Amino acid sequence: MSNYKFDTIKVRGGYNPKEHNDAVSVPIYATASFEVGEAERFDRLASLSEEGFIYSRLGNPTVSVLENRIASLDGGIAAVGVASGMAAITYALLAVAEGGGRILTTHQLYGGTVDALKKLYPKFGIQIDRIEDDNDIEEFRKSIKEDTKAIFIETISNPNAALYDLEAIAKIAHENNIPLIVDNTFATPYLFNPIKYGADIVIYSATKALSGHGNVIAGVIVDSGKFNWANGRYPQFSEPYFTLKDLEGNERSYIDVFKESAFAGKIRLDYLTYFGAVLSPFDAYLILIGLETLSERVQKQINNTRKIIDYLKNEESVAWINYPEIEGSPYKFLADKYFAKGAGSTFTFGFKGNTEQIYKLINSVKLFSYQANVGDARSLIVNVPKTTHGELTEEQLKLARIPQETIRLSIGLEDSEDLINDLRQAFKEALS
Ligand SMILES: *Cc1c(COP(=O)(O)O)cnc(C)c1O
Repeated sequence: MSNYKFDTIKVRGGYNPKEHNDAVSVPIYATASFEVGEAERFDRLASLSEEGFIYSRLGNPTVSVLENRIASLDGGIAAVGVASGMAAITYALLAVAEGGGRILTTHQLYGGTVDALKKLYPKFGIQIDRIEDDNDIEEFRKSIKEDTKAIFIETISNPNAALYDLEAIAKIAHENNIPLIVDNTFATPYLFNPIKYGADIVIYSATKALSGHGNVIAGVIVDSGKFNWANGRYPQFSEPYFTLKDLEGNERSYIDVFKESAFAGKIRLDYLTYFGAVLSPFDAYLILIGLETLSERVQKQINNTRKIIDYLKNEESVAWINYPEIEGSPYKFLADKYFAKGAGSTFTFGFKGNTEQIYKLINSVKLFSYQANVGDARSLIVNVPKTTHGELTEEQLKLARIPQETIRLSIGLEDSEDLINDLRQAFKEALS
């Protein structure tokens, strides 16, 4: 499949009907476990000397099609589907910093990630360092410490659509023998393939534009297969391990068994198997259906986004707009360099109203849905500091550049004129 182009892979990748009773649409394998047949076969499956399914917590054919398709769309060597975007982030970061260490990140992150990094990770022996000025590449270099295990950033940040010079950051990470892990949720593989620019691990909340219909909670971890886990900093990949015995009972390491896909192998056999946030085959199926229209959906959402931004630029009650394509955005040159097709369909703007008027604005929209999601086929609106980033302190909100008047829009697939008219009447109502 890797010879085919993006739009072919997104509808056909990782699936051969001949291996599934000629079913045209990927079947939902609603089964907890799989008939092994003979005792000797179980030994071969358990020692990974034969490929096959045993139990759906370790792997499932429907989920497997999705994993292969997404790995292929992103140019990765392997992928692991999990039950949510948060599970994907948690498993990837715990796996890389297993046994303790530091993660270097920024202040511009999804609210749930900010909370988890601040409140939970230190309890697992993982400390978090944050870049103050995310436009300053050198700050990444200066902030890497002896026990830093990875750099973690969002390729298009939630909620303000901040961008990064990924190539430069990947270079710094690799000069220091650590991987670059990115959350590519807002971009999707259609707008951006981080592996091309040096990212080692790519994470998705498949809940968002990847599935695109607001009907599933899911996550994916993509392994580029390019990072050298044998460089001495990551014994969890290079030391013999109790679950990786060969047919003779000798322990092997993740690198011995999985070679280039050691990271994905460890995520599956340790984190998915023992921590258990499994993606259900039905949810994998919904994402596969959503993926079939990924390019068409995301492109239309971008077209709509551009029209709505043009309207907001001239709207008197709008104080500022954060969207990388706008003239004067500090991220404009990065949008030009990395996001040729567009910089996503989620962005923020400042509403010139007091708290009461912000509530009134939210209450006055008729078409936009008021909900804490993004990337849906429907357009969504949310007052960020009260909702998606509601757990952040005043100080954290300031560092994340989220003033009280911040409104986030996620633009859907409706007619752009209807969306603009809806915003226009809501502004009027809120300020009346
Ligand atoms: C929503 C989101 C997540 C969390 O994903 P869930 O599927 O809700 O667990 C992580 N990162 C980003 C950028 C998100 O928008």
